[in-house]
Order: sequence, then C-alpha cells, then structure tokens
Amino acid sequence: MSGTYKTFKYMLDFACLGGKCEDTCCKGWDIRIDKFHYQLMQEKVAATGAEAAAEFARHVQLNDGESAGDQNYAHINLRADGFCPFLDQDSWCSLHKNYGEAPLSNICAYYPRVLSQCGNTVELSGAMSCPEMVRKCLFGAGHDELVDFDPAILPRPDDYPLTRELSLPADDDYYDHFVAVRNILMQLATLEGFSFESRLYFMATFANRIGKFYHHDCQLPDPKRLTAELKQALNASGLEKLDDFVIKYSPAEPIAVIVVQSVLQLRMQQFPHEYTSRLATEIFQSYAEHFPDASPDVLIQALPPEPLWALYRSRKETIDRCFSLELEEYLSRFLVNCLYREWFITMPDLFTYLQMLVIRLAVLRFLLYSHTGINQLAEQLAAKNSKPTDKELGELRDIVVKVVYNYSRSIDHNLPFLRVVYDAMNEQQMMTFDYAMPFIRF
Ligand code: SF4
Repeated sequence: MSGTYKTFKYMLDFACLGGKCEDTCCKGWDIRIDKFHYQLMQEKVAATGAEAAAEFARHVQLNDGESAGDQNYAHINLRADGFCPFLDQDSWCSLHKNYGEAPLSNICAYYPRVLSQCGNTVELSGAMSCPEMVRKCLFGAGHDELVDFDPAILPRPDDYPLTRELSLPADDDYYDHFVAVRNILMQLATLEGFSFESRLYFMATFANRIGKFYHHDCQLPDPKRLTAELKQALNASGLEKLDDFVIKYSPAEPIAVIVVQSVLQLRMQQFPHEYTSRLATEIFQSYAEHFPDASPDVLIQALPPEPLWALYRSRKETIDRCFSLELEEYLSRFLVNCLYREWFITMPDLFTYLQMLVIRLAVLRFLLYSHTGINQLAEQLAAKNSKPTDKELGELRDIVVKVVYNYSRSIDHNLPFLRVVYDAMNEQQMMTFDYAMPFIRF
C-alpha cells in the first residue's frame, strides 16, 4: 500500500512482554477471530493431529446472528475463571507457541496496536489497556511528535487489520477537516507553560466555538470561518485570558465529584471483583473514615459530596506538592494518546467527544489523586521535606501503570459502559459547555 505511515516514537520499539507480563490480556475479553485466520488456524491444528483439532473445536465457536461476518467469524470461549483456554502455564499463548504468529486472529496478533487509515496515511497507536503500552506512552521518548514508521515493524506487515478508515476527500465537511481540527487539539493538549487543566479548557472552548457550525453532516457555509477559528484557537492573548479564568474558577457545587462517585459506584456494583472496583471501594472506605455517620457500605451509599470534594482536593494538594510535574506529564501523554487513537468524528460533534473525554479524565484523576499509596508516598516526602528519589518515582510509576491499564480495561475502553454514562449525562442535560469546567477543574 502506498502512502505514509505515522506513529509516536514510543511505539517503534513496543513489544509484548508475553509470559513476563504482570497481567495477561488473554482474560475477561471477547476474543473474536476473523474468517481468514480461523481457517488458517484450523488447517494448522488439523495437521497436528486429532487431539489438537478436537481441542480447537471445543474452545472455538462459530458466530451466528446479525453481527457475524468475515471479521467477526468465530470467538474463543473463555474458561470459567475468565482466562483464554489456550493460555499455557507460563502465561503464554499455546497457539502462538505451536503455530507461530501467522494464523493468529487479527485481535491476538495486533493487540494492543490500533491501526487506522486516514486518507493516504496509516496511523499506528496503542491501547492503554496493556501495561507495557502504558509504560511506553507515559514514560517513553517522543509522546507528542509523530514520526514515520516502516510497516515492517508490524506483526504481519502485508496483512494488517484497520480499525477504521477514512477516504479523503470525503465529500463531507465534518470528515474533510478532521485532520486540521485534530492537529489543533493536539497542539492545545501539549502547549508548554500552561497547566493540564488550562489546556483542557482551551480544547473545550475551541470545541464549543466551532461546534456551532462544524459537526456531523454539516455543510460549512464559509470554510474561511473554520480556518479563522483554527488560527484563533492558538492566539496567545486569547489563551492567557482563558488561563486566567481557569486559575480563578472555583466550582459553586461539587457536581463533578457526584458524577465521578456515581460512575465508580456503578462499576463497583456491576463488577465488584475487578481491580478498578476494588481500588474505588478502598478509596471510598478511606474517605468514609472521615464521616462518623456514613454507612460502611460504600458500594451502595454515596458519601456526601461537599465534604468528599473537600477531602479529595486536600489529598490532591498534598500529592501535587510532590508529584504535580510527573502526574501532569502522565495525564498529558494519556490525553494525546486518546486524541490520536480515537477519532472524534465517530461522535456527532467535537464538543460531545471532548465532554466525555473530560469526564473520563476526571474519573482517572480521582483514582490517581485519591490513591492511598500515592498519598502515603507524598506524605512521607512532605515529612522529610525532600524531593522524590528515583526509588520513590519508580514506586509512583508502578502505581500509575496499574491504575491506568486497569481503568482503561474496565471503563475507558468499555464502550457499552461509556454509553450508559453518556446517556445519564445527556438525560441530566450535562453535555453542555456550562458543565465542562467542573470536570476540568477537578
Ligand atoms: S497486556 Fe500487553 S504486554 Fe501483557 S501480554 Fe497483553 S499485549 Fe503483551
């Protein structure tokens, strides 16, 4: 395929850790198999013998129903404990080990890589539900500069699966200006000299302004207007004013903490045993200790929002005194990964995409800034009145990786769950610019 191949520098040397990974990805997910690789694997397995063929037939089931097709041809039935039945005792895929990479399903061969075709450019990005990808993205070199890559670095360079495609020109103004609009978002997300919160606010303001005429199915009456808005978005004096507004803003009501608590409680009720739910339960219990009258059942009973908000802000201030630079950097890198990996044009308009993104980020920030381990590290440093050592920064990074990849698995990459959150927000009429700031200044 002719054209260009773009990715972030940290993606160039990504390699799955296999059996050395702290948490396999072959668990708890819907593992789909495309028709071509199903047939290839079936041939390889049959050539090995009747026992292997019977095992394959026992664990792999053909799909039927409306969603079945060449890309969704079959699926692997997980074991009762949620693990893939082909995972061996060394936490390595036995199909991969016995037959190589060629017959693996697209999802197994490519995860956590995401490939998208935008015009003549193939974009490679990485899903943050993989702990090694989180380490590359948050701590590796080159998180904000796109570089060319050779498709030879891909597992199957001549046969890579595309998650999405956009032919350009698309004869649709929403799609045709996608790359230019996303470029501005990525520039705003990485602007130096402004806080993470201010940069989020610049993006939300920009999205709100252009959303009046730039959205799904729009026909731009005057394309120059969009060009002018793109230029205006980076205007230095305009950004200073917005920055000043963010610094002075103080939420009248702790709306964001109410929403974040509800989102996490929903997850805790639905999946109490997963890591994010257990972490959220531990966090709410640690906050509940400050409320003598609070119900001990933090799964059901919401903590009162005003004091919860005050306690959260207090923990965040303690942590920020020691780790503000590091955590802002990690969050910025996470944000840029989202902007590049996800395409906002899959949503009806840019502001809807951004409002959901700032809500998702608020949930992640709540988990990080409420984390008792990070809080303890910050309190120890404050008591010593010293800067973090490499060891302490290493401990911080380990906690961040665990929180981020688990949060991505259970919430951030979970489209049905995010749909429930979106519907609830929409019903409460909170998908508007008036409700952006409480989640940004969080
Ligand atoms: S989670 Fe990432 S590093 Fe771990 S086994 Fe899966 S792809 Fe490999």
